[in-house]
Amino acid sequence: METLTENQLSVYSFGNKKADGSRDMKNLLGGKGANLAEMSRIGIPVPPGFTITTEVCTQYNQDGKEAVIERIEPEVRDAITRIEETMGATFGDDENPLLISVRSGARVSMPGMMDTVLNLGLNDESIKGVIKMTGNDRFAWDSYRRFIQMYSSVVMGLKPESKDDLDPFEEIIDHLKDKRRIEHDTQFTVQDLQDLVYDFKDIVKKRTGKPFPSNPWDQLWGAILAVFDSWNGDRAIYYRKMHGYPEDWGTAVNVQAMVFGNMGEDSGTGVCFTRDAGTGENKFNGEYLINAQGEDVVAGVRTPQQITLLGSQRWAELAQVSEEERAENYPSLEELMPNIYKELFEYQNKLETHYQDMQDMEFTIQQGKLWILQTRNGKRTGAAMVKIAMDLLKEGLIDEKTALMRIEPNKLNELLHPIFDPDALAEAEVIAQGLPASPGAATGQIVFFADEANKYKNSILVRVETSPEDVEGMNVAKGIVTARGGMTSHAAVVARGIGKCCVSGAGALKINYKTRTLKVGDHEYHEGDWISINGSTGNILEGKVGTKEPELSGEFAELMKLSDGYAQMEVRTNADTPKDAEIARSFGAKGIGLTRTEHMFFEVDRIKAMREMILADTVKGRKQALKELLPMQRGDFEGIFRAMKGYPVTVRLLDPPLHEFVPHQLATQKELADDLHISLASVKSKVAELEEFNPMLGHRGCRLGNTYPEITEMQAQAILEAALNLKKEGIITKPEIMVPLVGTVEEFRQQKEIIDNTAQEVFKKRKDTVEYSVGTMIEVPRAALVADEIAEIADFFSFGTNDLTQMTFGYSRDDSGKFLPIYLEKGILKADPFEVLDQKGVGQLIELGTKRGRSTRPDLKVGICGEHGGEPSSVGFCQTVDMNYVSCSPYRVPIARVAAAQAAIAQK
Ligand code: PEP
Ligand code: MG
Repeated sequence: METLTENQLSVYSFGNKKADGSRDMKNLLGGKGANLAEMSRIGIPVPPGFTITTEVCTQYNQDGKEAVIERIEPEVRDAITRIEETMGATFGDDENPLLISVRSGARVSMPGMMDTVLNLGLNDESIKGVIKMTGNDRFAWDSYRRFIQMYSSVVMGLKPESKDDLDPFEEIIDHLKDKRRIEHDTQFTVQDLQDLVYDFKDIVKKRTGKPFPSNPWDQLWGAILAVFDSWNGDRAIYYRKMHGYPEDWGTAVNVQAMVFGNMGEDSGTGVCFTRDAGTGENKFNGEYLINAQGEDVVAGVRTPQQITLLGSQRWAELAQVSEEERAENYPSLEELMPNIYKELFEYQNKLETHYQDMQDMEFTIQQGKLWILQTRNGKRTGAAMVKIAMDLLKEGLIDEKTALMRIEPNKLNELLHPIFDPDALAEAEVIAQGLPASPGAATGQIVFFADEANKYKNSILVRVETSPEDVEGMNVAKGIVTARGGMTSHAAVVARGIGKCCVSGAGALKINYKTRTLKVGDHEYHEGDWISINGSTGNILEGKVGTKEPELSGEFAELMKLSDGYAQMEVRTNADTPKDAEIARSFGAKGIGLTRTEHMFFEVDRIKAMREMILADTVKGRKQALKELLPMQRGDFEGIFRAMKGYPVTVRLLDPPLHEFVPHQLATQKELADDLHISLASVKSKVAELEEFNPMLGHRGCRLGNTYPEITEMQAQAILEAALNLKKEGIITKPEIMVPLVGTVEEFRQQKEIIDNTAQEVFKKRKDTVEYSVGTMIEVPRAALVADEIAEIADFFSFGTNDLTQMTFGYSRDDSGKFLPIYLEKGILKADPFEVLDQKGVGQLIELGTKRGRSTRPDLKVGICGEHGGEPSSVGFCQTVDMNYVSCSPYRVPIARVAAAQAAIAQK
């Protein structure tokens, strides 16, 4: 980590169409700071301000408060002076005070994860100046009470103590509303607001033991340090872990002149997107509120209005609001302030063209003047990610490589998951209607608290509104419903970011947290009741609604085609059944990299034959049982070969821990004894005999084929006969027969000999031949080390990184669940090595094994078939060692195709 040097700036100013920083400085200025600087540079009207760098945050974490303040104070004072000059106001002045905001801003956007303080600089004296300047004492007192509320919560830690507790300030507000018999904040008189300020300060003193700070400089330092502290708050830590962002990034602090959207009917504030974040359509859209501050739009207390006329009409239709009522009470910005709208429209165009990506912008209108507060690349759903990238490519704004690199492969997952079956949907009863905040289909049991989202396997989190504390639970739930809030509410933005289905602002829902009930009209739903939600229409449906596979056409298909044009590695699939093989083919798999033959025996009618084989005491007995298994296997292989239509298929010989196949329950043991006409005692003793201390390192893989060669014979026969049968149907299959868990060359040689001899016999008997190859898995570290010897007789290698990881780390695949979560929590490991390939350690064995293998057989085909074959960063690694293909589960095939293209682009 870099540390500050003597002459490096700690503070970067912007505003007035100038800036010290630029968009390229995200690491130092955070995403928000870099964008504010950039916007200012290109002539967008941003309120002037400055950014304290992320490196100062790092120094703060290392050296503490005093060292940092001493270091940056002169620069902060200079920067404040610059804001004062631009705004014509003075920080801490009683006559003409400058008010500022203080916000966090890490290098990537972490919505709601850290804190913000607005209206900083207000105190009992400066408020008089604000009243004099604006002639609006209501606005001034409202700003003051909001400031105390926010500052006390963020900087002084005055928050609700438990989840059932109300916010202490909201409690005072509610109390006053009851007393005054009013419903909305806007009905407070100036005297009410003054009383609130007094009561707020009183509770701060009572609860914290300290008076609310009145000196603006004390306020400023308090806020800056609170932002730095929020980087290490629970919410931020969880969010960082969820996304894998390192702790040492730190956050920047952005200090900016306040502009006010709550200065009357000619003021307002809003959020907008240059394209639709849910669907990706090229439609400018967003929400705003007149006479309001930013948090009013997000908090969902008032119903936000749509920015465009088209959006407003669409909203009215969904909310069942008539055109007259819409135009009267909820007009669009386009209708209400056409000039401001025009200006905003131009800026959104300019910003999208400048950043060449969909922008998520925040703006404020202060007494008829438009200010842009923020722009950033907008969070979007998986579907929108694909559509926007492909559209920007077609519009000529970005090139093919950029379009491909814009795709987060794992986010494609969202598109591969089921949607509601139209027939089931037509039958389903709609119980309420909200906004289509994040598309998708979800069905689950109601929970009302985020920390209880894991109470059911499938849960739907139902809240009045969500807050950053809820993100963890939102991630666990299958879908999210809120009664309040618009398309840019916290719930909506977070849900789109994590690809969760969400319906927001379903106003008809009456949620009671105390009784854990949800009332819609006369109907009451309880915790645990099933509901379904359609995030694409905003419908909330009664009970479970059936789903079906999604259709992958349009931009998705275009993206896949584009990926294949750049990818160098092929993508195969791991499939054990014709059905899996067909799904994978529909996702574009170019073959099968692993068929686990033992998985074919789990079905009831087969496990019997398998058990007979395992329990047989003699070769003759075993051969008898294998004879029964042969036609079953052959049939399976035929199905798979047929589904793959001539694409390569790698079939792995049997690799089961044997004890998994023997019965452990008395009743089943009895049944087996009867079937085999042997005593229960001998079944029991055989089961005991097969028990292993460490089955993962026991009698499995080629150890089985080498001790019971007749198993390998039967399997080779089934594979080759199936290929011959298919040849008759006109489908040419060249089976790749794979020997598992090889550690010495002799283990492989003896298995290969059996396969080759069996092939000769089959071909002779059938008077026909097929091409086949024999290769090995590399999953024992020793095999990687002696890969040169093995490659002399093996046609191909497939890295079994599940076992290779197990044996390189010495972590049992069966038992790692007991300690890996703790290792991750403690930071001993950065990622689960069974999910994300450990490039540093296991990667060395892969690289070495590949090189050594190709040193004796230059055209050795090399692939991977462990779980890592569908994990984007691991796929990237496979490209760097020049693998021929990766193989992954069917649903990960599209992800691997894009990851393979990205890896090829990155390597050039
Ligand atoms: C592996 O070990 O990576 C592998 C693919 O085999 P299995 O998971 O069946 O042990
Ligand atoms: Mg294995």
